[in-house]
Amino acid sequence: MTFPSPEGATPAMAQWFALKAEHPDALLFFRMGDFYELFFNDAEAAAAALDISLTARGTHGGEPIAMCGVPVHAAQAYLARLIRRGFRVSVAEQTEQPRKGRPASKGPLRREVVRLITPGTLTEDELLEAGRQNLLAAIICPGARGGGNPGIAWIDISTGLFETATVPAADLHDLLGRLDPAEILCADNVDLGDFAPRRTPVVPPASVDAARARMAEAFGVASLDAFGTFSDAEALAAACAIDYIRRSQAGQLPRLSHPRPSDSQDVLGLDPATRASLDLLRTRDGTTEHTLFAAVSRTVTAAGSRMLADWIAAPLTDPARITRRQAGWTWLLDKPGIRDDLRAALRTAPDMARALGRLSLGRGQPRDAVAIRLALEVARAIRRILGAQPELPPIMAGVMGHLDRARELEALLGRALSENPPARMDDGGIIATGFDTELDAQRELRDGSRRVIAALQHDYAESLGVSSLKIRHHAQLGYVIEVPAAAASRLRGRDDLIMRQGTASASRFSTERLIALDQQIAQAAENAALRERHLFTQVVCQILDETALPDIAAALACIDILQSCALLAGGGTWCCPAVVDDTSFTIRAGRHPVVEAALPRNARFTPNDCDLEPDHRIMLLTGPNMAGKSTFLRQTALAVILAQAGLPVAAASMRIGVVDRLFSRVGAADDLARGRSTFMVEMTETAAILNQAGPRSLVVVDEIGRGTSTLDGLAIAWAVLETLHSTLRCRAIFATHFHELAELSDSMPRLSPHTMSVREWKGQVIFQHEVVPGSARRSWGVHVARLAGVPEPVVRRAGRLLAMLEKERGRQAPPLPLFEQQPPRTEAEAEPAAPTVPPAAHALLAELDPDALSPRTALEMLYKLKKLM
Ligand code: ADP
Repeated sequence: MTFPSPEGATPAMAQWFALKAEHPDALLFFRMGDFYELFFNDAEAAAAALDISLTARGTHGGEPIAMCGVPVHAAQAYLARLIRRGFRVSVAEQTEQPRKGRPASKGPLRREVVRLITPGTLTEDELLEAGRQNLLAAIICPGARGGGNPGIAWIDISTGLFETATVPAADLHDLLGRLDPAEILCADNVDLGDFAPRRTPVVPPASVDAARARMAEAFGVASLDAFGTFSDAEALAAACAIDYIRRSQAGQLPRLSHPRPSDSQDVLGLDPATRASLDLLRTRDGTTEHTLFAAVSRTVTAAGSRMLADWIAAPLTDPARITRRQAGWTWLLDKPGIRDDLRAALRTAPDMARALGRLSLGRGQPRDAVAIRLALEVARAIRRILGAQPELPPIMAGVMGHLDRARELEALLGRALSENPPARMDDGGIIATGFDTELDAQRELRDGSRRVIAALQHDYAESLGVSSLKIRHHAQLGYVIEVPAAAASRLRGRDDLIMRQGTASASRFSTERLIALDQQIAQAAENAALRERHLFTQVVCQILDETALPDIAAALACIDILQSCALLAGGGTWCCPAVVDDTSFTIRAGRHPVVEAALPRNARFTPNDCDLEPDHRIMLLTGPNMAGKSTFLRQTALAVILAQAGLPVAAASMRIGVVDRLFSRVGAADDLARGRSTFMVEMTETAAILNQAGPRSLVVVDEIGRGTSTLDGLAIAWAVLETLHSTLRCRAIFATHFHELAELSDSMPRLSPHTMSVREWKGQVIFQHEVVPGSARRSWGVHVARLAGVPEPVVRRAGRLLAMLEKERGRQAPPLPLFEQQPPRTEAEAEPAAPTVPPAAHALLAELDPDALSPRTALEMLYKLKKLM
């Protein structure tokens, strides 16, 4: 954006130019009385984005200055809209109070930028989504010369969460997909893929030592090592994020939890394409309806929703940790009473983590302190509910260990805060009576004087002989005696009454006594307000000193998830899967929870089994469009995610060996906007699978090879299938419209062909959505065309053409022999070595350690061997 030169500006506009220069790329909200005003290009951009009127105020360089404004009391709503539209906003407040006698020649009152609001640095409830984290991430790529992997740090300043990781460059996009940061601090030359629009370019700290020292200082420790081991890139990223937050909060740092290095090895690998195809937390168009999260969440608190979203975004790979989560909710399954009590208690729990975030930034209101008290009361209620149980599962016992760690603070807040606190600090009344004798005394003085005044009204009415006399408080005059104009003449001339004001209807007088009482009340009220503010600050300090609060907030969120799971699974249609340490894979009567929920009332979801046990770990799935293939593929992937997140699965039963990486390629990936053809996208994604999948991975792919000619496509699908089967040796479901591939089961012993059952009835096709062994004997494309409303003559003509083509093809050689049938390729599946193996190949084989081979070198080795034969 270009702005006019500040030269020749009026003093007020000169101040605007100076503040604008601090954050040139942000819209400047410039406080003027009860409005935030925007000028020049800022005004034009904001007026267009907010649909508010654009006017002009004064001139600059002979041109009118464009201006628009929003009222301060409604600013949050406008801010929210601007941030959502991708703007950054800096807020300049008046930081000097107007004082009597201040000469106008001193120029405008001092203003300072008190806050830079960017997508990653939000704290206000109105700007945040309650059930989702709002992360600021910083990425440092050491670059080819410096070597080493990228370091990434992520912070949610609204809750204080702070974690870091070092990941191989190839996994960076996976991690970003998992975190879904609102804003990413990152140098311009790092490829952020789909996340590029969220980049804020930054200059990293000058040296690693400086970064480590700054981090240690921010947390008041001698060395960063106190919190774990951080790579250089991690430390740089963390310092970068901290610096940025400091700048955005005008130098103030919110209280963050200690940075925690996280190990991404413990998490199920999900690349961005997989996430995009599964609608885990959001659908592709950004909504939260019809997502896996929406289908499984029965949480009642915002913090519970956030934690559940995190569990779904980052499923585990350690069976012990998964079982620990499962044991927490299965324990509740036969205890509906306890579950309901927990739900009822949690329903009243406010969002403690976010209240804490605002308090730590000095932006807390009385309701935030009250939120902490209420949350601690909920913690006590839950202690009571669970404490009565003889034996708790480990995850709950762990939670219980946190719940009573803030008893002293709980007692303090119980005594200090009033039952019905005001909305704003200025309204007074946040501190309870009986908590502080000095405050009580000031309030007593204030209220006592008010009572004296109330009594005086009666006395004055009698002594002055005016029964309609009232004592009223008047903004400018203070307490005055008010009498109707008609009675005023009787009072004029009395020494003890001081005439203050006379109107046509009433006259106002004061007395020495009233003036003294008025001053006394004003003084006591001011003293009480000061004292109350002081006490509130002390209470906030005590809250911030209590290090157990973030753990308690997390404990409550965890209980919320467990009760949510128990409620979901309590209906009997969801199961607790067995997640073990081998490569088994069986799902009985699995369902797609989102498709199921979206079916019309009279439709029933057809459950399906999925069996990818080691001796038939690759399922080849054929069947017409609309028969339910994608649904089946997705439901299998979702079942793995739920199972490894430790959550219930929509199935009768499930047993799987832990999956280390899940690849899902289902549904058209439309990347044309980025200039890549559908086929190119398809092949790039296929390449990603072939380069990364291993024996513990699960691959679900739909229609590989559809983006090119039939023969090309068949050849590619065939080669990919072979690699999955014999080289990568992963578990996979491979959906295809190349029915011919089913015949490969002779040469691929682990391949099990399945198809979607379809019936024809009176010339109509009926999809049964059932996965059955075998392969589709024919295509139903023509029928599907009719179903989709293609005009009947076209459908009939297509039917006749199809019959003709099929006849024609029957006369030709079947397509399969076009390709040479390959022998089984891995040592496990190969026939015993024939005596004719040449010695060189023997030697190579003898040296070879199959377990130490990467898929790629294995493939190279195979080619070498083949040459030697
Ligand atoms: P395909 O991938 O074979 O074209 P889809 O999986 O997209 O088919 O399924 C098409 C529609 O059929 C879905 O939108 C859903 O309404 C319905 N459907 C799919 N699977 C089932 C099922 N198991 N039970 C009931 N309806 C289903």
